[in-house]
Amino acid sequence: MKKNFTIISNWKMYLDTIEELKFATINYDNFIKLTNSENKIILCPSFLSLSSINQIFKSTDICIGAQNCSTHLNGNFTGQISVESFNKLGIKYSIIGHSETRREFNESNIDIANKFSRLIDFGITPILCIGEELEEKKSGKTLDVLTKQLDPIFKIMENSYNKLNHLELLIAYEPIWAIGSGIIPDQDYLENIFSWLHKNFSGLRNKIVFTLLYGGSVNAENVKFLKNIKNIDGFLIGKSSLDFQEFEKIVKYGI
Ligand code: PEP
Repeated sequence: MKKNFTIISNWKMYLDTIEELKFATINYDNFIKLTNSENKIILCPSFLSLSSINQIFKSTDICIGAQNCSTHLNGNFTGQISVESFNKLGIKYSIIGHSETRREFNESNIDIANKFSRLIDFGITPILCIGEELEEKKSGKTLDVLTKQLDPIFKIMENSYNKLNHLELLIAYEPIWAIGSGIIPDQDYLENIFSWLHKNFSGLRNKIVFTLLYGGSVNAENVKFLKNIKNIDGFLIGKSSLDFQEFEKIVKYGI
Protein backbone atom coordinates (compact mmCIF):
# COMPACT_ATOMS: atom_id res chain seq x y z
CA MET A 1 0.00 0.00 0.00
CA LYS A 2 1.26 3.48 -0.86
CA LYS A 3 2.11 5.68 2.09
CA ASN A 4 2.07 9.46 2.44
CA PHE A 5 5.19 11.02 3.88
CA THR A 6 5.97 14.27 5.67
CA ILE A 7 9.38 15.49 4.62
CA ILE A 8 11.18 18.23 6.50
CA SER A 9 14.16 19.97 4.98
CA ASN A 10 16.40 21.48 7.66
CA TRP A 11 18.68 24.02 6.01
CA LYS A 12 20.66 24.50 9.23
CA MET A 13 23.35 27.17 8.55
CA TYR A 14 24.63 25.57 5.35
CA LEU A 15 23.78 28.58 3.18
CA ASP A 16 23.95 32.30 3.82
CA THR A 17 20.71 34.20 3.47
CA ILE A 18 21.35 35.27 -0.14
CA GLU A 19 22.09 31.66 -1.08
CA GLU A 20 18.93 30.51 0.69
CA LEU A 21 16.77 32.92 -1.29
CA LYS A 22 18.48 31.82 -4.49
CA PHE A 23 17.97 28.14 -3.66
CA ALA A 24 14.27 28.78 -3.03
CA THR A 25 13.67 30.85 -6.17
CA ILE A 26 15.73 28.73 -8.58
CA ASN A 27 13.91 25.59 -7.45
CA TYR A 28 10.52 27.21 -6.87
CA ASP A 29 8.64 25.44 -9.70
CA ASN A 30 10.17 22.10 -8.89
CA PHE A 31 9.39 22.42 -5.20
CA ILE A 32 5.77 23.09 -6.10
CA LYS A 33 5.69 20.04 -8.36
CA LEU A 34 6.91 17.87 -5.50
CA THR A 35 3.81 18.68 -3.52
CA ASN A 36 1.56 17.46 -6.33
CA SER A 37 1.97 14.04 -4.79
CA GLU A 38 0.65 13.11 -1.38
CA ASN A 39 3.83 14.30 0.33
CA LYS A 40 3.85 17.17 2.78
CA ILE A 41 7.00 19.26 2.49
CA ILE A 42 8.22 21.63 5.20
CA LEU A 43 11.23 23.82 4.50
CA CYS A 44 13.12 25.17 7.52
CA PRO A 45 15.46 28.01 6.49
CA SER A 46 17.54 30.12 8.85
CA PHE A 47 15.83 32.84 10.92
CA LEU A 48 17.08 35.64 8.70
CA SER A 49 15.37 34.17 5.62
CA LEU A 50 12.29 32.80 7.32
CA SER A 51 9.99 35.69 6.49
CA SER A 52 11.16 36.03 2.85
CA ILE A 53 11.01 32.31 2.14
CA ASN A 54 7.56 32.23 3.68
CA GLN A 55 6.52 35.03 1.31
CA ILE A 56 7.99 33.18 -1.69
CA PHE A 57 5.94 30.06 -0.99
CA LYS A 58 2.83 31.90 0.17
CA SER A 59 -0.30 30.43 -1.40
CA THR A 60 1.50 27.19 -2.38
CA ASP A 61 1.36 23.81 -0.65
CA ILE A 62 4.97 24.11 0.54
CA CYS A 63 5.03 24.69 4.30
CA ILE A 64 7.64 26.73 6.13
CA GLY A 65 9.06 26.12 9.59
CA ALA A 66 11.61 27.70 11.92
CA GLN A 67 14.69 25.86 13.14
CA ASN A 68 14.20 26.84 16.78
CA CYS A 69 12.26 29.25 19.00
CA SER A 70 12.58 31.08 22.30
CA THR A 71 11.08 29.73 25.50
CA HIS A 72 10.19 33.32 26.42
CA LEU A 73 7.13 35.21 25.33
CA ASN A 74 8.88 38.58 24.76
CA GLY A 75 11.11 41.07 26.58
CA ASN A 76 14.81 41.48 27.30
CA PHE A 77 16.11 38.36 25.57
CA THR A 78 18.86 39.46 23.20
CA GLY A 79 19.28 37.22 20.20
CA GLN A 80 16.08 35.25 20.74
CA ILE A 81 13.18 34.87 18.31
CA SER A 82 9.65 34.69 19.70
CA VAL A 83 6.93 32.26 18.79
CA GLU A 84 4.58 35.23 18.62
CA SER A 85 6.63 36.52 15.66
CA PHE A 86 6.15 33.19 13.87
CA ASN A 87 2.46 33.40 14.52
CA LYS A 88 2.22 36.92 13.10
CA LEU A 89 4.19 35.88 10.00
CA GLY A 90 2.00 32.82 9.47
CA ILE A 91 4.80 30.33 10.17
CA LYS A 92 3.07 27.12 11.16
CA TYR A 93 5.96 24.88 12.31
CA SER A 94 9.08 25.03 14.45
CA ILE A 95 11.78 22.48 15.14
CA ILE A 96 12.58 22.14 18.84
CA GLY A 97 15.08 19.95 20.67
CA HIS A 98 17.40 19.40 17.71
CA SER A 99 20.54 17.78 19.10
CA GLU A 100 22.68 20.57 17.64
CA THR A 101 20.59 23.16 19.50
CA ARG A 102 20.50 21.10 22.70
CA ARG A 103 24.30 20.87 22.57
CA GLU A 104 25.02 24.45 21.51
CA PHE A 105 22.72 26.10 24.08
CA ASN A 106 22.94 23.47 26.78
CA GLU A 107 19.18 22.97 26.61
CA SER A 108 17.49 20.69 29.12
CA ASN A 109 14.44 18.52 28.48
CA ILE A 110 12.47 21.03 30.57
CA ASP A 111 13.61 23.93 28.35
CA ILE A 112 12.39 22.00 25.34
CA ALA A 113 9.09 21.21 27.01
CA ASN A 114 8.68 24.95 27.69
CA LYS A 115 9.22 25.66 24.00
CA PHE A 116 6.68 22.98 23.17
CA SER A 117 4.19 24.65 25.45
CA ARG A 118 4.88 28.10 23.98
CA LEU A 119 4.38 26.79 20.43
CA ILE A 120 1.08 25.08 21.08
CA ASP A 121 -0.15 28.21 22.90
CA PHE A 122 0.23 29.99 19.55
CA GLY A 123 -1.17 27.15 17.43
CA ILE A 124 2.22 26.31 15.91
CA THR A 125 3.10 22.67 15.31
CA PRO A 126 6.21 21.56 17.20
CA ILE A 127 8.64 19.37 15.30
CA LEU A 128 10.06 17.70 18.37
CA CYS A 129 13.48 16.06 17.95
CA ILE A 130 14.61 13.31 20.28
CA GLY A 131 17.49 10.87 20.12
CA GLU A 132 20.36 9.23 21.94
CA GLU A 133 24.16 9.52 21.88
CA LEU A 134 26.24 6.62 20.59
CA GLU A 135 27.44 5.70 24.10
CA GLU A 136 23.84 5.56 25.29
CA LYS A 137 22.95 3.27 22.41
CA LYS A 138 25.93 1.04 23.13
CA SER A 139 24.95 0.68 26.77
CA GLY A 140 21.35 -0.19 25.87
CA LYS A 141 19.95 3.05 27.30
CA THR A 142 18.15 4.39 24.22
CA LEU A 143 14.61 3.93 25.50
CA ASP A 144 15.54 5.41 28.90
CA VAL A 145 16.95 8.49 27.16
CA LEU A 146 13.86 8.86 24.97
CA THR A 147 11.61 8.43 28.01
CA LYS A 148 13.44 11.25 29.83
CA GLN A 149 13.12 13.47 26.76
CA LEU A 150 9.43 12.71 26.33
CA ASP A 151 8.17 12.70 29.91
CA PRO A 152 8.03 16.51 30.37
CA ILE A 153 6.32 16.77 26.97
CA PHE A 154 3.69 14.19 27.95
CA LYS A 155 3.02 16.15 31.14
CA ILE A 156 2.30 19.29 29.12
CA MET A 157 0.15 17.33 26.71
CA GLU A 158 -1.93 15.96 29.59
CA ASN A 159 -2.93 19.50 30.57
CA SER A 160 -3.19 21.04 27.11
CA TYR A 161 -5.39 18.69 25.22
CA ASN A 162 -7.64 21.48 23.97
CA LYS A 163 -4.64 23.18 22.31
CA LEU A 164 -3.40 19.96 20.69
CA ASN A 165 -6.81 19.06 19.42
CA HIS A 166 -6.37 20.88 16.14
CA LEU A 167 -2.59 20.43 15.73
CA GLU A 168 -0.67 17.57 14.20
CA LEU A 169 2.33 16.72 16.34
CA LEU A 170 5.56 15.87 14.51
CA ILE A 171 8.11 13.76 16.40
CA ALA A 172 11.49 13.21 14.80
CA TYR A 173 13.58 10.37 16.17
CA GLU A 174 17.14 11.37 15.33
CA PRO A 175 19.89 9.22 16.81
CA ILE A 176 22.67 11.75 17.40
CA TRP A 177 25.31 9.36 16.07
CA ALA A 178 23.43 9.15 12.75
CA ILE A 179 23.17 12.92 12.12
CA GLY A 180 25.62 13.98 9.45
CA SER A 181 27.66 10.78 9.92
CA GLY A 182 26.50 8.78 6.90
CA ILE A 183 25.56 5.95 9.28
CA ILE A 184 21.96 4.83 9.74
CA PRO A 185 20.51 2.38 12.26
CA ASP A 186 19.67 -1.16 11.18
CA GLN A 187 16.15 -2.38 10.56
CA ASP A 188 15.59 -4.16 13.90
CA TYR A 189 16.79 -1.16 15.86
CA LEU A 190 14.51 1.22 13.96
CA GLU A 191 11.49 -1.07 14.06
CA ASN A 192 11.85 -1.50 17.79
CA ILE A 193 12.12 2.23 18.47
CA PHE A 194 9.35 3.26 16.11
CA SER A 195 6.95 0.67 17.44
CA TRP A 196 7.77 1.86 20.99
CA LEU A 197 7.14 5.49 19.95
CA HIS A 198 3.94 4.56 18.18
CA LYS A 199 2.70 2.65 21.21
CA ASN A 200 3.51 5.56 23.53
CA PHE A 201 1.86 8.25 21.43
CA SER A 202 -1.18 6.23 20.42
CA GLY A 203 -1.63 5.06 24.01
CA LEU A 204 -1.99 8.56 25.43
CA ARG A 205 -5.19 9.06 27.34
CA ASN A 206 -6.11 12.04 25.18
CA LYS A 207 -5.93 11.08 21.54
CA ILE A 208 -3.81 13.33 19.34
CA VAL A 209 -2.83 13.33 15.68
CA PHE A 210 0.86 12.56 15.45
CA THR A 211 3.42 11.68 12.78
CA LEU A 212 6.69 9.88 13.48
CA LEU A 213 9.70 10.91 11.46
CA TYR A 214 13.20 9.57 11.17
CA GLY A 215 16.24 11.85 10.84
CA GLY A 216 19.94 11.17 10.44
CA SER A 217 21.93 10.89 7.17
CA VAL A 218 18.87 10.25 5.00
CA ASN A 219 19.82 10.21 1.32
CA ALA A 220 18.44 9.08 -2.04
CA GLU A 221 19.92 5.60 -1.56
CA ASN A 222 18.99 4.69 2.00
CA VAL A 223 15.48 6.19 1.69
CA LYS A 224 14.52 3.05 -0.26
CA PHE A 225 15.11 1.04 2.91
CA LEU A 226 13.81 3.68 5.32
CA LYS A 227 10.47 4.21 3.55
CA ASN A 228 9.64 0.57 4.21
CA ILE A 229 10.14 0.67 7.97
CA LYS A 230 6.85 0.31 9.79
CA ASN A 231 5.66 3.44 11.63
CA ILE A 232 8.12 5.77 9.88
CA ASP A 233 5.86 8.30 8.19
CA GLY A 234 8.37 10.94 7.25
CA PHE A 235 11.89 12.28 7.46
CA LEU A 236 13.83 15.21 8.81
CA ILE A 237 16.68 15.80 6.39
CA GLY A 238 19.70 18.06 6.71
CA LYS A 239 22.56 17.92 4.22
CA SER A 240 20.85 15.91 1.42
CA SER A 241 17.94 18.31 1.29
CA LEU A 242 20.16 21.18 0.12
CA ASP A 243 20.89 19.33 -3.12
CA PHE A 244 17.60 19.70 -4.97
CA GLN A 245 18.10 16.68 -7.29
CA GLU A 246 18.87 14.47 -4.31
CA PHE A 247 15.96 15.87 -2.32
CA GLU A 248 13.62 15.25 -5.25
CA LYS A 249 14.73 11.61 -5.45
CA ILE A 250 14.12 11.18 -1.72
CA VAL A 251 10.63 12.67 -1.93
CA LYS A 252 9.67 10.81 -5.10
CA TYR A 253 10.99 7.37 -4.19
CA GLY A 254 8.12 4.89 -4.16
CA ILE A 255 5.47 7.21 -5.63
C1 PEP B 1 19.18 17.00 10.82
O1 PEP B 1 19.43 18.12 10.47
O2 PEP B 1 18.40 16.81 11.74
C2 PEP B 1 19.78 15.87 10.12
C3 PEP B 1 19.23 14.70 10.28
O3 PEP B 1 20.86 16.12 9.34
P1 PEP B 1 21.50 15.12 8.25
O4 PEP B 1 20.37 14.67 7.36
O5 PEP B 1 22.51 15.94 7.55
O6 PEP B 1 22.09 13.95 8.99
